[in-house]
Amino acid sequence: MQKFDIGGLAALVCRHDVPLFIANVDTPGEQQKYAVSLIEHMFKLLPPKATVVVLYDVGCVLDRSVAQYEMFVDGIEERVMFATSVMHSYVHQWSCQLHYNPRLKDGLGLTDGENVERLWSRSRGLIPVCRSSGKHRRVWLINRKLRTIAKELKEEMGSWISRKLNKGVVEQTAESQKTLDECNMEVKFLEKQWADQKATQISVRSPRLKTHLGNILNIQTDINELEATVEKSLGLLKKGLLPETCRPAIVGVDLEFVQKLYLVREIKANVQRKATSTFWEFDKLDRAAGGKDIALGTKMHQHVRSAMTKKTAALTAAIKRYNTECQSLAAVSKPEWNIPLPEPLPTNMGELKTCTTLMENVWIEPIQGDSQRWVHDQDVRDGIRAMLRLKRCREEHQRLGREADNMLKWYRKELKAIATAIKDSSNVLLVSQLRLEFEELAGLKSSWATSLITEASYEAHLSCIVQAADGIQLTWAPVKVADDSIDDSELSAPVLHVDAGEEDSSMLPSAEEVCLNDLFSEQAEHEGKVALQPLSCNLTWQTPVSFALFF
Ligand SMILES: [Zn+2]
Ligand SMILES: [Zn+2]
Repeated sequence: MQKFDIGGLAALVCRHDVPLFIANVDTPGEQQKYAVSLIEHMFKLLPPKATVVVLYDVGCVLDRSVAQYEMFVDGIEERVMFATSVMHSYVHQWSCQLHYNPRLKDGLGLTDGENVERLWSRSRGLIPVCRSSGKHRRVWLINRKLRTIAKELKEEMGSWISRKLNKGVVEQTAESQKTLDECNMEVKFLEKQWADQKATQISVRSPRLKTHLGNILNIQTDINELEATVEKSLGLLKKGLLPETCRPAIVGVDLEFVQKLYLVREIKANVQRKATSTFWEFDKLDRAAGGKDIALGTKMHQHVRSAMTKKTAALTAAIKRYNTECQSLAAVSKPEWNIPLPEPLPTNMGELKTCTTLMENVWIEPIQGDSQRWVHDQDVRDGIRAMLRLKRCREEHQRLGREADNMLKWYRKELKAIATAIKDSSNVLLVSQLRLEFEELAGLKSSWATSLITEASYEAHLSCIVQAADGIQLTWAPVKVADDSIDDSELSAPVLHVDAGEEDSSMLPSAEEVCLNDLFSEQAEHEGKVALQPLSCNLTWQTPVSFALFF
């Protein structure tokens, strides 16, 4: 950080992955101020009653800070809600997940909150270039790149919606419905169970209990020491140090069982910590590589790899021990105690990451009849998950419907605005640019068409506007070169130009393009990869037949 003026970037991205705003990170670490200022900036541009859900890796922490200190200017706090991202939810405790995991939170549909990760992955080609470039050039490069990404994503919005509909809503609804059918339980019952689970697991009892058993919970390494402390704590337990609420639960149960139960609880806490840090390493690797399928081949990669191997071995050992203790606990357990036994965990990392019981603590109280079936009945747990997933799918479906409607509305409004601008005589110098814009927008009708809003609807709006604003024609024909003085070779190798600029220089690459090309080829050489093919594009330049009529 001392060597660089900027340590990183913080980005605000919408749920369609479109980058909205980006900020320079100029302090070590990811401080909350970046998130706060980006959110504040966005609110300045939103209607006064608009509400926003912010999905942030540490959304829970930010939410607490916002509640504690006046971090936002007036009128924002009531309109903003926080959640964490789906993939990073494992780093949060279960009680935190119950509040902030978007899959467990009402109204969030299937939004996963991993949009910023995908943005970094899309723009990672800029990292080596920007590392050594000057401040202003870097800002310019990033700005250009992000604008391009935003434009491309906007154009692909139709396929985005279709993908979310098919892969998300349709597939997951079918899956969840199947699970629900297999469980054969009423949704009302599952809802009650879920409410009970939330209330129980969020309750303040566990932290208090944790404090009293602090001496047990703090030891992880030495089994002898651990067992000695368990003994000691059990002594305290008998004397009545533990809170009123849990004492009767433990009394009447074999000492050996209670001892083992606390031991298993402690081992599971250890497994959870180890799993969290191992997954974190996995993610770091994925993040650096821009996705788990792309190898990085750098020192960082080697380093993370070796860290992962070490951590995975320690985690597997901890899980094996936990599973063994679970077995021996089951051997001394009696059904009349009504204390649910902890379930073994998978040793396979992939399965472990998606294991639903990993982050749940070991249950140390007897269960109360049917109202707490979620504690021990796997079917109820599966049922609850499926029910929640179904709800998210329904929400997502509704949201996608609204988004498709909004796209059509925006399409019509924007076309109308451009058509009006073209008609306005004061825009005479901009007419060709506006016509291009109109043409480009009109072309979105096929890529934006989805099963929710068909191409015919777009077409209808388009022809309506074209008719209303007579003079705008969408017939295009190949260009006829009237001027013989233009050299053919120039035409056969067209170059992209960002700005129309003056006519004389429009055929030459701009300084910006030259610089960008240089940087990319330098980067390719630097990485030892096959050099990029020289930029060659076949542009078919066509102008409207009626072009001249409008000047
Ligand atoms: Zn969006
Ligand atoms: Zn959290």
